[in-house]
Amino acid sequence: MTTSEFNQPLGGNDMPRFGGTTTMMRLPAQDTAQGLDACFVGVPMDIGTSNRSGTRHGPRAIRAESCMLRPYNMATGAGPFAKMQVADIGDVAINTFDLKKTAEIITEAYHEILKHDCVPLTLGGDHTLTYPVLRAIKAKHGPVALIHVDAHADTNEHMFGEAIAHGTPFRRAVEDGLLINDKVFQIGLRGTGYAPGDFDWGREQGFTVIPAEECWHKSLTPLMDDIRARIGDAPVYLTYDIDSLDPAFAPGTGTVEMGGLTTIQALEIVRGCKGLNLVGCDLVEVSPQYDVSGSTALIGSNLLYEMLCVLPKTWA
Ligand code: MN
Ligand code: MN
Repeated sequence: MTTSEFNQPLGGNDMPRFGGTTTMMRLPAQDTAQGLDACFVGVPMDIGTSNRSGTRHGPRAIRAESCMLRPYNMATGAGPFAKMQVADIGDVAINTFDLKKTAEIITEAYHEILKHDCVPLTLGGDHTLTYPVLRAIKAKHGPVALIHVDAHADTNEHMFGEAIAHGTPFRRAVEDGLLINDKVFQIGLRGTGYAPGDFDWGREQGFTVIPAEECWHKSLTPLMDDIRARIGDAPVYLTYDIDSLDPAFAPGTGTVEMGGLTTIQALEIVRGCKGLNLVGCDLVEVSPQYDVSGSTALIGSNLLYEMLCVLPKTWA
């Protein structure tokens, strides 16, 4: 291995993979995004969850299970650490006693990250966090296209009377004008609803909804070809809820639905984002208490690495 001007993940021949400091991919830690092209950042929250809690422990579990990740992507040839300066900038200091204050804290933290022209890759945390992140993304980039992979639409008007919760972020994002509505794609939706039209609110705003049943038994590479063509050069945010996966693959989450995506389809979705102008990504809803083998967090860590591998600068 030649020496690089950029940060490198600590190799398994320099420190055993089960040793050392628990940063994402065993990258160097730093306090701010200064000088970085991309950063991993945790949002350790679960106070927006509606069923099982525990995602406050998600970022730490994802970091721990990322220890096996090596720098090069053998399938795609991507070598993100040869092209970008990347570090783990730690966690956002949320207020675990106040969800509304936490949303403000998150937006402020991402204003700070984006000030450095750094692409944030977020380790969640429950899906509430995506709305305050998108507020900061809009301030930097304007309204964005959205690829939203999830078992759920997360477009509820309210949850238990509250506007901010993990089932409302994309309703609030539309209301605030954060999205290019006809470039929003929701993939993997399924399960039971309160009414037969529960997934139609997004469609009425211009979203394209691809329910899980339309994904069964097939490659999602053609779908991603179509999505890339329809998004074009617009800035894009990728938000990946781990519960989009079938619980056979990813049981460690709070609102489980059967009949979900496979890990192969997850790779097809993320790898299918290559060529898009990605300005931010997140991986949310990993809840380690329900993750007896650690595989949910491990899959989450791999998908975050795959996101890094499709950022524009990796291929510039
Ligand atoms: Mn969600
Ligand atoms: Mn979900």
